[in-house]
Amino acid sequence: ERQACRLLYSAPTMGAALTPMLRQYKALKRDNPDAILLFRMGDFYEMFYEDAQRASGLLELTLTARGKGTDNVVPMCGFPYHQLEPYTARLVRAEQRVAICDQVEDPKQATGLVRREVVRVVTPGTVTDPDQLDATANAWIASVAESAGRLGAAFLDLSTGEFLAWDCHEPTETGWNLLTERVRAFAPREIVHAAGFAWNDRGGPSLRETAMLTPVDDYMFNRDHGHDQLKRQFNVDSLDGYGFRGRPAAIAAAGGLLQYAQDTQKCSLAHIHELLLHDPSDALMLDETTRRNLELERSIRTGDRRGSLLHAIDRTVTPAGARLLRRFLLAPLLNLDRIGARQDAIAEMVAAPVLREDVRECLKGVFDIERLLTKTVSGSANPRDLVALRHSLGRLPELVETLASSRAELIRDTLDGLDLCDDVRQRLATALADDPPVTLREGGAIRDGFNAELDELRSIRTDGRSFISALESTERERTKIASLKVRFNKVFGYYIEVSKTNLHLVPEHYHRKQTIANGERFITPELKEHEAKVLNAQERIESLELTLFAALREETAAQAQRLRAVARATALLDVLAGLADIAVSEDYQRPRVRDTNALVIRGGRHPVVEQSLAGQHFVPNDTLLGGDHRSIGILTGPNMGGKSTYLRQVAVITLLAQTGSFVPAEEADIGIVDRIFCRVGASDSLSEGQSTFMVEMTETANILHHATRRSLVLLDEIGRGTSTFDGLSIAWAVVEHLHAVEAGVPRTLFATHYHELTELAVELDSVMNLHMAVRERGNDVVFLHRVDAGPSDRSYGIHVARLAGVPPGVVRRAAEILANLERGEYGRDGLPRRAHANKGAGAQPTLFGMFDPEEPKPRAQDPVIAEVLSEIREADTDEVTPLQALNRLVAWKRQLRGTEDR
Ligand code: ATP
Repeated sequence: ERQACRLLYSAPTMGAALTPMLRQYKALKRDNPDAILLFRMGDFYEMFYEDAQRASGLLELTLTARGKGTDNVVPMCGFPYHQLEPYTARLVRAEQRVAICDQVEDPKQATGLVRREVVRVVTPGTVTDPDQLDATANAWIASVAESAGRLGAAFLDLSTGEFLAWDCHEPTETGWNLLTERVRAFAPREIVHAAGFAWNDRGGPSLRETAMLTPVDDYMFNRDHGHDQLKRQFNVDSLDGYGFRGRPAAIAAAGGLLQYAQDTQKCSLAHIHELLLHDPSDALMLDETTRRNLELERSIRTGDRRGSLLHAIDRTVTPAGARLLRRFLLAPLLNLDRIGARQDAIAEMVAAPVLREDVRECLKGVFDIERLLTKTVSGSANPRDLVALRHSLGRLPELVETLASSRAELIRDTLDGLDLCDDVRQRLATALADDPPVTLREGGAIRDGFNAELDELRSIRTDGRSFISALESTERERTKIASLKVRFNKVFGYYIEVSKTNLHLVPEHYHRKQTIANGERFITPELKEHEAKVLNAQERIESLELTLFAALREETAAQAQRLRAVARATALLDVLAGLADIAVSEDYQRPRVRDTNALVIRGGRHPVVEQSLAGQHFVPNDTLLGGDHRSIGILTGPNMGGKSTYLRQVAVITLLAQTGSFVPAEEADIGIVDRIFCRVGASDSLSEGQSTFMVEMTETANILHHATRRSLVLLDEIGRGTSTFDGLSIAWAVVEHLHAVEAGVPRTLFATHYHELTELAVELDSVMNLHMAVRERGNDVVFLHRVDAGPSDRSYGIHVARLAGVPPGVVRRAAEILANLERGEYGRDGLPRRAHANKGAGAQPTLFGMFDPEEPKPRAQDPVIAEVLSEIREADTDEVTPLQALNRLVAWKRQLRGTEDR
């Protein structure tokens, strides 16, 4: 496509007949061949040629044409300039790159064609407009690179200035999975890479499903180039201080990404003032499947944030707080001291309700400082943005005062020495009006008294305006024309309007300007003199306000680093206060987190299911895994009995505990977990083009390779995606494998419908049985949602089918077939003879009657087998000699061989 564009725009034959404007357009397009070029013409952004054709469809704009009837028909479409943001957003959502070309000189001053330049290229990963972004999530753009036999990746949030780089510890050949996993963890909307980066059959295609892949010139991802880029950005001689010594792939990825950001933003990136080493080994690892299955950010069923863990526990009051909470939750800690520090801070706010509420109240007035700063640094902040910044800073003294007596180390560390940037706040307060308009054009952004020249111009304008408005009454009196009006329009400026009937009263010094239907319009020298004063003053006011505001914005931008520190501090306090708030309102307790292998939870609950029950009682459950208890629990029980909820609640409590949060349990003692695996059998992944069972097995393989004695493994119906025997055998072998992990058995919960697995508890000393308790009442079953020791006796699937409204006839027949199966009626091929009917047509078996041990014994189908069986049943074993028994046995064998030959 790039090639085709190049050819089109460089075709020499086409240039000849073009207007100067289209020639200018083509030159700009040549530099941005793969972007839709929005070309500013007066009050419109126009698109031409195939850009117009593509965009008119995507934006539902009417496609018109220039030069109709000539050889050079140019398709075009456009929209008014003030619609730039929403239209750009729509194009970007449709995965288009958009190059915004503006007039970069005042058309009034320009001689000849107005100079135009591409001032910004917007792509899915480089959107910074807060209106187009989710305030509660980072907007990451990622890059991947290879250098010196290692893979690396970098992640940048242009809207907040956060910049991270990661270096894979494995060599390139084996590091692809890790790279893909790392990139997925950030959920970037765009991934930039060198055109020559060979990942076509190694992760690239799968990442393409959720992110746009952008190939760029290879040199951008050269390690030395990256080094130079980064050193220049951070104004340092070496990157060693950032922890990047010996990490060339991380540097190459970060350097290339930074250059891409510069190439697209074309403005200051001063808000990116550090590069942090991203080290996932600091955090409890949660792979993508686990994140999805635990519904950390989104509900699996609806895809919404509602129904997710994040939604259930998020009580933050600032956007930056919400973003930080998300990051905490997706990367729980491994370090006991850091976990303890967060817990101490939360505990303090849990114990002091007034303090907690005051802190949250203060924070409610703090806007999204990080994103406001980005707008400030890039020069797109409007007066209201700076006022929002001013308000935010204004909340700080009270916040600090409220927390002055805090003893929690984390709060102390956050506030001690925090620069409140009061000078910045004061400057913004003196310069900006209390409630300025959104755009500078409207005027009045700068406060009276801030600039003497502006004050003077404003008073000239006011005087002029009041003179003119007074003129109407003086002229009415003077001329005796009661209906005389003084009006203003853009063409004539101020004028005096007199109706037809009064024209004979018009004085001589009035100059006629225009005749209208009902009368005439006049001007007077006096009116024009004051008009000139007003308009002159107005024009100068506008340009002076613009200059003053731009200077103020730059001044503020220069303080970006100090302001970022404020943003970080308030976000952290917000997260801590929010976690304290949920702990109090939902009765969460502080867990013990220790360096052990045990997982002991008393009265644990699932925070999301609990909230969704709306008034109904959630049944708390205990968990005793590892340490002094067995490490593997096989959980059986009826469908809908609560197995999945229980598995997930154990994971979520563990995860919350390592986030530093309090947990939904009466008591919890959590031995630190290095990684949580949560797999659900036969989950549907058809969109990824893999069979569900294949996905299930790939995920299982991943667990078996990576689970350590520190891991928490949750397997929900693994093996379900294939035939019963296959599935059961695989599930069995998986448990045996986990049991045999040499360094120690990972804490594991395995929910299953294969009752046969419960026998593992007899054979393996680290396996125990658990089941979801039910109470039967007549034909009805009550799910108690309580986890008890021991295996369950049956699965009640047919009961659930009835609850779900499956027709009674089907339910009855299913019960009948189940009875056959449970009696072991298997054919010689090992497959059950499902179709046998047990009862006459008129019989009405009760649902669970089929399981009644008092039922007649099964009928053998083959008469010979039936005869053998009956002889065995009737044989009096006390009376036969061993020889007789042996002879009988030989005879039976012969009889049975006959049935096999048939
Ligand atoms: P299936 O085998 O069909 O997947 P399941 O045994 O995994 O079922 P869950 O999906 O965990 O069952 O739970 C079914 C429903 O039971 C939940 O949606 C919830 O409404 C309720 N439930 C689960 N656990 C509890 C609990 N501890 N207290 C109260 N209600 C619960």
